[in-house]
Amino acid sequence: MAWSARIEAAGLGEIREKLDARERLSFDDGVRLFTCNDLLAVGWLANRERERRHDDRTFFNHNIRIEATNVCVANCLFCSFARLMPGDKDAYTLSLDDVLHKLRVRAHEPITEVHVVNGLHPDLPFSYYTDLLKGLKQIKPSIHLKCFTAVEIAFFADTFGMSEEQVLRELMAAGLESLPGGGAEVFAERVRRKICDDKCDADRYLRIHRLAHGLGMRTNVTMLYGHIETMEERVDHMMRVRALQDETRGFQAFIPLAFHPDNNQMRKLPPPPASDTLLVHAVARLFLDNVDHVKAFWIATGLDVAQTSLWFGVDDLDGTVQEEKIYHMAGARTPEMMSKAELQRLIRAAGRTPVERDTLYNVIN
Ligand code: SF4
Repeated sequence: MAWSARIEAAGLGEIREKLDARERLSFDDGVRLFTCNDLLAVGWLANRERERRHDDRTFFNHNIRIEATNVCVANCLFCSFARLMPGDKDAYTLSLDDVLHKLRVRAHEPITEVHVVNGLHPDLPFSYYTDLLKGLKQIKPSIHLKCFTAVEIAFFADTFGMSEEQVLRELMAAGLESLPGGGAEVFAERVRRKICDDKCDADRYLRIHRLAHGLGMRTNVTMLYGHIETMEERVDHMMRVRALQDETRGFQAFIPLAFHPDNNQMRKLPPPPASDTLLVHAVARLFLDNVDHVKAFWIATGLDVAQTSLWFGVDDLDGTVQEEKIYHMAGARTPEMMSKAELQRLIRAAGRTPVERDTLYNVIN
């Protein structure tokens, strides 16, 4: 069957016409894509959109990831990483020296980004975070610091009696250059009340990203999928991202994150199947017409699904990472790091062209 007939047969003819006319998809279109029973038809449309924007280029970066502490006062049910108190089994907090050592030993490598996210530690002073940024910059001034989720920024504001803007300004003065997208989970209140009731809500998450964009920073945004959310709630999440992006143009990439059930309070739920992972990335590519990049975080999707996703709307595979704890404590079986050559091989083996980028999507070499 020709693709046009298959798209029609899948009930996606109208959506295809809208995409041809560069018209924005509606809430109902989003739900129709998520409930379509022909994954390949959705994927075909998403791939067409991906190639229109990026041809066969697939971006990645050479980065390291540091999770300085897993002590966290929040109790997100899906989280396998956090430990409530400093003395709890497997709880850790790195000294500043230990954090800086992680970059110092790799400083000779052509790393372009350090990505730092942490638990919400009740006792660390604000100077821990500013000194961490300053120390990283001192070791490698050219490094881009993408650190602290909006949830952490909200926590700093509450803990240290500062406004969110003040927190962002002081962190920027210490070297912060962009925010990662973690902590978005699913914006719908019904879901947040059940799975992450005691951390910053959706409006505050979005307000902090709006503030960051207003201060000149670029940020990413995520969506944790594959647990108790409905298809309508996924579309609602993407609509809120799209609306803020219309205002600020500050999001660089949308990053769906697969729920992993091991070692957390939602372990009775199964993980999302590969087909759902491909569908979420494909719908994101079609729905988020104002976000340039859809990223598959290979640590969470698995390597083979990440490769396949490059034909389902994805144009970015994150980075070399070097060390990852959050997903590995939740049962991820992927490696904790990949070399640049391995990432390039993975992308080429999927039939795409690897392009190394920096955090702001400037092409390197
Ligand atoms: S997801 Fe983040 S905020 Fe929630 S418990 Fe884990 S570390 Fe804490």
